[in-house]
Amino acid sequence: MTVDATTREQQRYWAPALETQSRPEWEALKLSLLQGHLRHAYDNSPYYRASFDAAGVNPDDVKSLDDIRRFPTIDKSILRARQEAKPILGDLAAVPERDVVYVSASSGSTGVPTLSPFTQQDFDEWIDYEARQFWSSGLRPRDRYCHSLNFSLFIGGPCVLGAQKLGALSIHAGTVPSERLLTILRQFQATAIWTTPSYAWYLGETAQKEGIDLRRDLAVKRIFVAGEPGGSIPETRDRIESLWGASVYDYYGLSDIFGSCAGMCEEKDGLHWAEDHILVEVIDPLTGQPVREGERGEMVLTTLKKRARPLIRFRTGDIVSFTSEPCRCGRTSQRLLGVHGRLDDMLIIRGVNIFPSDVEAIVRKDHELTGEYRLVVERKDHLDALTVEAEARHGINTPTEDLAARLKRQIKAVTGVGAQVAILPPDTLPRATHKAKRVDDRRGRVWTA
Ligand SMILES: [Zn+2]
Repeated sequence: MTVDATTREQQRYWAPALETQSRPEWEALKLSLLQGHLRHAYDNSPYYRASFDAAGVNPDDVKSLDDIRRFPTIDKSILRARQEAKPILGDLAAVPERDVVYVSASSGSTGVPTLSPFTQQDFDEWIDYEARQFWSSGLRPRDRYCHSLNFSLFIGGPCVLGAQKLGALSIHAGTVPSERLLTILRQFQATAIWTTPSYAWYLGETAQKEGIDLRRDLAVKRIFVAGEPGGSIPETRDRIESLWGASVYDYYGLSDIFGSCAGMCEEKDGLHWAEDHILVEVIDPLTGQPVREGERGEMVLTTLKKRARPLIRFRTGDIVSFTSEPCRCGRTSQRLLGVHGRLDDMLIIRGVNIFPSDVEAIVRKDHELTGEYRLVVERKDHLDALTVEAEARHGINTPTEDLAARLKRQIKAVTGVGAQVAILPPDTLPRATHKAKRVDDRRGRVWTA
């Protein structure tokens, strides 16, 4: 290795001046980007021009970051409707189609996929951000990185180019059957991989069943996970880490903006946010008012750079909390403390809010349980009834009633909800190969954003 390459490997930050600037510098940077971006949206997107005019707001009125609150919000249904009205990109787009070089599509749970367009500059800036994020999680040019996310129109696919830009040997594996992926990991002796938390677990268990020693036969030292809250739940991370003998880093992405907008540094104290790309608001989903820093609320995002299709005050439906306290790693960007669940997943049981992730943390701490779980909600005698199903591990001696009683006590203590608990035999609940479905709500919808 050359002296330059060695020095580069040891460098702590990808973009030192940006990543360690003071909070006032971050705020000033975001304000100036926001003003320019709102102006770009207003001048070039027919949708935003009409919507800002209708709300009586103008980009010239923005003198502080708080002024963003005067602008109207949008959500997924608006993206879908405007795309159907003005195919193919919709009239939130703010560049002519000839300037668009890449488009991802997100399926969502209902309806037609929405498209997320990028200009060449948008794309290059995004990939540079992915490199910055990988670097903050300890990935270096000496690594062999296996990207096992879907490449078919999925925004997570091109994130592999961030690892490549950083200088790692990058393996474009995609989503292949587990046996094939294990063969790739073994042949390449990959040192890092990106997948979902439930799949990381499933893959590790599959490897063990096939007689593969995860520590001796494979070389995976870092696992990046995204797509489910599990990666920010310490108990879930701990168990994936001890299964693999590797370090797990949680990432957060949003198909309508970026493959990954936030990721854990090596301190793993929240996820550093792409703060020079995306302005964050955390609001009470019912009143629309901002919540205090650190409190849970719905995340509303405004892009600061993405020219092809600006998103101004996009309601994500994700319930999150944030901090802007400096991190021990020396980076000063805001950190996403947790994605507590989807607004759609938030259950209100007899007036108390509960998320599957609350239950996950409890179930995964109990070493007599397998860690798999499901929440079943029903209406019984006109009242909500929550049943938590969990699995006992093979070969334990504790009676099922005792396990159930213990779990019930802990759920009540942590969430305030009185739940029934059903302890099932091992391997009863369905194993997820992609995103785990944790809630079976048999009451019909009780909450709409
Ligand atoms: Zn940090």
